[in-house]
Amino acid sequence: MNEMTPLMKQYWEIKNQHSDKILFFRMGDFFELFYEDAVLAAPLLGLTLTQRNKKAQDETPMCGLPHHAVANPINKLLSFGYKVAICDQLEDPKQAKGIVKRGVTRILTPGMVFDPDSLDSSMPHYMGAFEEGYLALMDPTTGEAFYIGPMTEDQFLEYYLLFPVAEWVASSCDQLAVFSIKEPSIQEKINLPVAWQVQQIPKAAQRLLTYAHSLVGASDTLLVQTFHHRKMQTRMQMNPQALRHLEIFQTYKGEKKGSFQFAIDKTLTAMGGRLLRDWLSFPLTDYEEIKTRQSLAQQWMGDLRLLEQVRDYLKKIGDVERRLARVASSTCNARDILQLTVAIEKGQEILKLAHQNDFLSHLLKLFNLSDKVSKSFVEEPPQSIKNGYMIRLGVDPQLDEWIHLSTNVQSLLLEMEQKEKEKTQIPSLKIRYNNVFGYYIEVTHTHKEKVPSHYMRKQTLAQAERYCTEELIEIEKKVLSAESKRFELEYQIFDKLRKELISETVSILLLANQVALIDVYSSSAQLALESRYNFPEINPSKKLYLESCRHPVVEKSGVTFTPNTISMEQGQLMLITGPNMAGKSTLMRQVALNVLLAQIGFPVACQRAEIPMFDSLFTRIGASDELSQGLSTFMVEMNEASFILKNIKPKSLLIIDEIGRGTSTYDGLSLAQSILEFILKKQCGFTFFATHYHELTSLESQNPSRLFNVHMGIEERGQDIYFLHTLKKGPAMRSYGIHVGRLAGLPEEVIKRSKQLLKSFEQSSRSPQLSLFDSIEKFDQEAVKQEATPVFPDWVIELKQLNLNEITPLGALQTLFEMKKKASDRPPEAF
Ligand code: ATP
Repeated sequence: MNEMTPLMKQYWEIKNQHSDKILFFRMGDFFELFYEDAVLAAPLLGLTLTQRNKKAQDETPMCGLPHHAVANPINKLLSFGYKVAICDQLEDPKQAKGIVKRGVTRILTPGMVFDPDSLDSSMPHYMGAFEEGYLALMDPTTGEAFYIGPMTEDQFLEYYLLFPVAEWVASSCDQLAVFSIKEPSIQEKINLPVAWQVQQIPKAAQRLLTYAHSLVGASDTLLVQTFHHRKMQTRMQMNPQALRHLEIFQTYKGEKKGSFQFAIDKTLTAMGGRLLRDWLSFPLTDYEEIKTRQSLAQQWMGDLRLLEQVRDYLKKIGDVERRLARVASSTCNARDILQLTVAIEKGQEILKLAHQNDFLSHLLKLFNLSDKVSKSFVEEPPQSIKNGYMIRLGVDPQLDEWIHLSTNVQSLLLEMEQKEKEKTQIPSLKIRYNNVFGYYIEVTHTHKEKVPSHYMRKQTLAQAERYCTEELIEIEKKVLSAESKRFELEYQIFDKLRKELISETVSILLLANQVALIDVYSSSAQLALESRYNFPEINPSKKLYLESCRHPVVEKSGVTFTPNTISMEQGQLMLITGPNMAGKSTLMRQVALNVLLAQIGFPVACQRAEIPMFDSLFTRIGASDELSQGLSTFMVEMNEASFILKNIKPKSLLIIDEIGRGTSTYDGLSLAQSILEFILKKQCGFTFFATHYHELTSLESQNPSRLFNVHMGIEERGQDIYFLHTLKKGPAMRSYGIHVGRLAGLPEEVIKRSKQLLKSFEQSSRSPQLSLFDSIEKFDQEAVKQEATPVFPDWVIELKQLNLNEITPLGALQTLFEMKKKASDRPPEAF
């Protein structure tokens, strides 16, 4: 440390307090990263790694970025899970005596981002904490804050997957100490405001607030609403994987395009999009709430002109919540404030169109303030907030004076220039300004002789000479002091207006919330009109009826969709068989998706629908490895099945698309059948069970009132099959897997051989496993002949040669006895 330069000493003093973060160290117009921070960040951000002390023995790795271009790189580091500390210059380098004072002004973590505009606007950005049975969530980019509970740890694990949490805050106090900033001004902010202390919020919520407050800088404001208790009793339960299985927010490939929300989302604002996402994560189970949502959407359908008008305004409002987050951040400028006021003004228009008079009068103070703020700024203010020219004349009498003075001085200069030209008879004489020499009179060398004696020389150029005079020095003083006073006062006015707006946070968020609701209701109406959706009847009877039902995503994919009608009673299980590609999965998913739509109060993709109130939705679909969690495909399948079997109830909707396929045929079949029997025993509400195990279809005769077979129709023409995509009564006759293999382009040789094998399996009364030996042997006949040692143990060949039609029971027993004897005489490795 002793041998370091003062700058590096300062660096290490600060870095040592933030060893768990990447330190952005401000030097002039750049933020520099040193040592391991530079080595780590340079490749992630695509920066060139250089050395600070190239010639010295201890080369210092470093990389840097211009101070105005750090938002995206910081967000990138945060998305990789790193924390960033921003160390700024705390004084003007020009005024500094010795080394410039520096300190950490902001800490950014995956949950506390640098620039809210860089986030995905369609989803929240939560920080989460779980403690003493309560889950608390807070989004510092929108101000949303709530807690859920009490709950068990198992329930927490379900929510864990449902909410997109960018950062979990650990419950250990020691860990929190590491996060806190040592600077006194910020340290003070860690103490919670009195209102929060009085409010009885769970520890998890307090922890989030304490943590977030420890991160915000002295001139930032933490955007957070009062924590409210979010009650989940009237919300439908879903297994954590259901959102993924049904591709609600993104496809299996992780893309939004092609997801369910993408297909039905007609919202036009980011707030509306986020609200719809929340509705989809937590469908309702309360009849009145659903009815209210339906009727609020239907009101918009009654006036198409109004609907069009409101959607026009919604397009223009922007993201009110994240605009407010920008204004609350110290990086805010006059443009951000103006954008927020424009959004507030559009919000007022939207409330007017929606006839929300109560809200309009409740928010009157906000509208007036916003109007005053927007009229205080010039139309296109500059990016910088320190160099004036952003506040209009008439806002502040003192400022008007400075503005007049500084602009009058400009005209004084023009006057003086004219006067000097006349006095000296030098027509090209000009008065100009530059940062180094200030104001000067410039005379070209041609007129050198005419320059009066009181002109004092300042600078000689190739073509001209620059001078100053006592009068010019006086004017310069006036200009500079008027201008710097103007800039200072403009900044103060800017800051005051910004704080006034921030003090209206509750009203702004209330407005954003109302706009989000209007957006979602009007988009629900738009969906019904545009996509031929209809509002369902939520019936108290125990019947599910979906007339001419479609799949919201598949019907948009360019195929000509064949609607199907589904009618079922509570407690029934629909066993669906049919060829691959026939539409089994599509049918089951479309039931689940339409039920989801119905229970968020939306119209459904059906001609007509009656839907019983489901209290839970469980899905078990497809095979997905979770190798990173140490789980094989089959283990994932069994885990999910086990969760479902423990949770299904008489009001559950259950979708099972294949079960037991990841193991041997008999294991799989046995599991599938026993799972099916268990579902029936537990009186699960409505079950859709697709399978390729045709053996299961015989169960219908044992449970005629509860289980019924259906299949997806196909038409065979010669060698070809055609998928009709229509639901038909009764079990499917065959699987047609080989046909589908052919459609998929398997080599003709493989198709031919498959057909041959299938024929032999179907003719054989033996088990598929035994038939397999049989066929492999045939397939490898040539190879067997050429090999000196037989491919199969001789007991298999003996077994194959037995003619079961001719052998007597005693003969069979005798053969078995001999085979067993041979087996025990044989050394173990022979098997
Ligand atoms: P597998 O048993 O191989 O999983 P499947 O029977 O589940 O097949 P799906 O995956 O549901 O078949 O459907 C296959 C394709 O058929 C879909 O991608 C879709 O393009 C089309 N399809 C399904 N149902 C319909 C329908 N009702 N109308 C039109 N096309 C449909």
